[in-house]
Amino acid sequence: MSVVGWTNIGELCTADPTLGEGQLGIVRDAALVAVDGRVAWIGLAAEFPDVDIAHDMGGAAVLPGFVDAHMHPVFAGDRAAEFDARMTGTPYSAGGIRTTVAATRAASEEQLAANAARLAAEALRQGTTTLEAKSGYGLTVEDERRSLVAAGTVTDETTFLGAHVVPAEYADRPDDYVDLVCGAMLDACAPHARWADVFIERGAFDVDQARRILEAAKVRGLGLRAHANQLTQGAGVRLAVEMGAASVDHCTHLGDDDIEALASSGTVATLVPGAEFSTRSTYAPARRLLDAGVTVAIASDCNPGSSYTTSMPLMVALAVREMGLSPAEAVWAATAGGAASLQRDDVGVIAPGRRADIIGLGAPSHVHLAYRPGVPLVSRVWRAAASV
Ligand SMILES: [Zn+2]
Repeated sequence: MSVVGWTNIGELCTADPTLGEGQLGIVRDAALVAVDGRVAWIGLAAEFPDVDIAHDMGGAAVLPGFVDAHMHPVFAGDRAAEFDARMTGTPYSAGGIRTTVAATRAASEEQLAANAARLAAEALRQGTTTLEAKSGYGLTVEDERRSLVAAGTVTDETTFLGAHVVPAEYADRPDDYVDLVCGAMLDACAPHARWADVFIERGAFDVDQARRILEAAKVRGLGLRAHANQLTQGAGVRLAVEMGAASVDHCTHLGDDDIEALASSGTVATLVPGAEFSTRSTYAPARRLLDAGVTVAIASDCNPGSSYTTSMPLMVALAVREMGLSPAEAVWAATAGGAASLQRDDVGVIAPGRRADIIGLGAPSHVHLAYRPGVPLVSRVWRAAASV
């Protein structure tokens, strides 16, 4: 039996409101004990028991590890030139996602896994202890399958996104591509995926196509997610809710009916402010969602086109400064919210029985994540009580 403890925690943010003050369930001058990688005890530093290994946090803030529920880390190449063109106002027509598809198809499975591992390590250094990883840059049966195998080398939260866009070779017969996704592609990919996702948007997949794909995935036992209402106020959010999706992501352009549908459902709205930041777009109406009672998560949307960042501290800062969340709401959305988006009850919260995924800040309060944007405040990270 391994007993690990943390003491002299100035501000312990449990993300469980039943354990302390406010939405983050804050306990001050706190201590924490994990047994065999699971949280076993939370209390005051004055009552810290004997442990095998003790970490003195010196008055710093301690939070649950971040749960990044929306990442696209399996790809090859980058799109810095496209980003540069967009930021300098030059119209840019070539390239886009198809540039990444071509580079991904040309890469070996080892190269794809190495790139995913590099991004997962980068995320971990910034406090992300659980992440989701999508395919979606292969868009052939074999390239989607091997993308999911690469994703599975960095996480169990693997998501089949064969329905990311219609690849160039199917541009004039998109329904044939939907047939492929619903048939041979899902047959090859479902054994390697926990989730299926569809990009429901003008220029990607319409609601009827998305419904077919989500139904085919559900039959194979996959959980459902969707990219919806990113660029236009379509019916994607309502379809995802109707289909019982765990999460609908982006949610940038929402009507009152979309918000009502989310509020009366178990579907989490996973917001990705990095995409809006990196494309100079309008942010999702996070305040309206929260005020309506919707469960909100925030995620990085790490991808080479529209949000090439793994930084959950940046997402917290953007959610506070650009979306109107309080620092407590943003930290909750990045931890417990992410866990809800992935339907995980073992991570995202520091509470007895949960995995001891813990981050220590070089700061006395979670507020500093938004107050000091861009500063590397995550100073120590543990996963299942082991230092990483
Ligand atoms: Zn995405």
